[in-house]
Amino acid sequence: MPGAGGAGNAGDPFGFGDIFEAFFSGDAFGGGGGRQQQAQDLATELLLSLEEVVAGATRMLHARMPVECPTCEASGCRPGTEASLCTECNGNGQVRQVRRSVLGQMVTAAVCPRCGGAGMEIHDPCPDCRGDGRVLDDVEIEIEIPAGIENGQRVRMSGRGPVGPRGGPRGDLYVDIQVAPHERFAREADDLHMTLAVPVTGMVLGATREIETFDEPVEVDIEPGTQPGRVLRLKGRGVPHLHRRRRGDLYIHLTVEIPEQLDEEQEALFRQLAELRGEEVAPPGVGFVSRIKSAFQ
Ligand SMILES: [Zn+2]
Ligand SMILES: [Zn+2]
Repeated sequence: MPGAGGAGNAGDPFGFGDIFEAFFSGDAFGGGGGRQQQAQDLATELLLSLEEVVAGATRMLHARMPVECPTCEASGCRPGTEASLCTECNGNGQVRQVRRSVLGQMVTAAVCPRCGGAGMEIHDPCPDCRGDGRVLDDVEIEIEIPAGIENGQRVRMSGRGPVGPRGGPRGDLYVDIQVAPHERFAREADDLHMTLAVPVTGMVLGATREIETFDEPVEVDIEPGTQPGRVLRLKGRGVPHLHRRRRGDLYIHLTVEIPEQLDEEQEALFRQLAELRGEEVAPPGVGFVSRIKSAFQ
């Protein structure tokens, strides 16, 4: 593992190797050379409810990541001992390599093989972090969720990720946002859509319904003679636009609730209504199957 230069401990008593490699699989030294080695970034996921998206929220994130080793205070040295300047690179973290070619001499800089770019040599590594200056820990981080954030968006928490080796700067923490589907509302950009089933009598005669929104409940009027498929719009009851005050709208898609069962009296009333309106209907006792049959005769 890079960054553990001089530690020299055999084996991996904590089983950290694989996990560290997953976090720091890239070039941990950047282009800079020198002593401070930047950690790689870490990504985690956060599941939000639509309520939290509309109102904005403060949540605690839980992530397992490398933190400064408390035993050696990130120095990587056994307490009471100190690191010394690397004798190979004299603390630069980089070594110059001179190559001769047909074009002449070429000088390139490379990460110091002795100290792994840290510039320091640890002679007696800390027993808890094996000279790396970091240990894995469960970290709790507060995150502010801006209202209006969308499913699949990624929040970058600059400098809140894993710490670098031996007190190096922290990487970034990326939070991938997932928004759980809502049982009543579907989101489309900043707008919300819902379906409201109204009994046939309410569609014909008009009705009032109370709609639960993410704010206070709103009463909507269904006008007499409303057709199924009609869409009502509640302005400003949708999702806030990310980083703006404007909010989307709530669209209520009306469907008609047709009774599947009628008692005798109700059926008699429907038949009387059909007769009054001159509408032809199936005779009593004729089920769906026999109607299909008669259509093919
Ligand atoms: Zn340590
Ligand atoms: Zn060195």
